Amino acid sequence: MRKKILSSITVLCTFVMMLPISVLAEEVTFGQFQDDLAKAEKKLKDNNQSINNSQNQINADSETIRKLKSEIEAMGVETNELQQQIAESNISIAERRQQTKDVISYYQMSQGENIYLEYVFGGESITDLVYRLSIVEQITEYNEKVMEELENLIKANEQRKVDLANKEKEYENKISNLNAEIGKLTNSVSKLGELSPGLEQEVKTKRELVESYKAQGCKNRSDVIGKDCAVSSSNGQFSRPIKTGYITSFIGYRWGSLHRGLDMGSSLGRNTPLYSVGYGRITSIWKDKNGANNVNIEYRGRDGKYYTAIYAHLSRYGNIYKNMEVTPNTILGYMGDTGFVTGVHLHLELWPCRLYVDKECEGWDEYVRFVNKQYKSGFKGAESVINFPNKTYQTWTSR
Ligand SMILES: [Zn+2]
Repeated sequence: MRKKILSSITVLCTFVMMLPISVLAEEVTFGQFQDDLAKAEKKLKDNNQSINNSQNQINADSETIRKLKSEIEAMGVETNELQQQIAESNISIAERRQQTKDVISYYQMSQGENIYLEYVFGGESITDLVYRLSIVEQITEYNEKVMEELENLIKANEQRKVDLANKEKEYENKISNLNAEIGKLTNSVSKLGELSPGLEQEVKTKRELVESYKAQGCKNRSDVIGKDCAVSSSNGQFSRPIKTGYITSFIGYRWGSLHRGLDMGSSLGRNTPLYSVGYGRITSIWKDKNGANNVNIEYRGRDGKYYTAIYAHLSRYGNIYKNMEVTPNTILGYMGDTGFVTGVHLHLELWPCRLYVDKECEGWDEYVRFVNKQYKSGFKGAESVINFPNKTYQTWTSR
């Protein structure tokens, strides 16, 4: 009886001990993963289409802006011409007015012996006062008519100037709206951050993972990855990735977004070898959109969960290849400053999710959301599972 109870307890204990692993490790079958790849490929295709559309719209908007600007320039030239015409008309009006005044006053002053009229019409034909009077009237009338026409022209020009100014304002508005649209479209085309793999890279890695799983014995759609095939040889121990170094920046919120990795530097700079933090398998060797050289490695933690480590900004790679089984003595590469960085350092992310495989981090955006959730719940990735000093610039000299 006692033996039976004991063995029951043993079975129960074993079951309880097994439980966290089977509950925590998310199960993904090979078939599900292949379906996910197909989904990601479609998403990439749609995304490329929408990027194309955005790019076309940006080009069309830029062309419209160029046309509007050249029209505004033409309107400026026209406005100047109108102004010039107005000024000239004003001068002509003044001249006509003066001429009329002069004709009348000379006629009145000369009382028939007008030198000015002789000057204007020629002396010979001017003999008769009445005739002269009628000429004066004609000149006056003619000048009045010309002045009226000029004044109408000025009025028309002023109106045209107002119309042009309004149109220019309207065009300026159109341009600023188009520029706003271009800004939005440009944002949708490229979202940059410290690490930005982009959909293309995500799909590429997923494709490579399918091949890798096949090579690791995954055959049937029902095979559970990491259990029936592609089982990790990791022993759950994590050590520091560099022999001597110091933390320059911890995990935490920085400029409004979560800095998901530990940044560390070393006095050896670009010659600092970067070691694997444990026994694992290289899942991806990749470049991000900013040109950073990165390595992803899958590990299994002591908690039974699968982890993905990202080693970022390497200056160069070691003798590594995709699917390579790594040990804590494997040199992955050397510290660097490739990509979106301000100096030579290693950016190390380590979170309990198989990047591009597990549902919670099946894509980069999902991964970023997952890490934020983990951090908010108190888990701090590499900071939680690897022993690091808790102050920046505090140097360690062994792994
Ligand atoms: Zn960093």
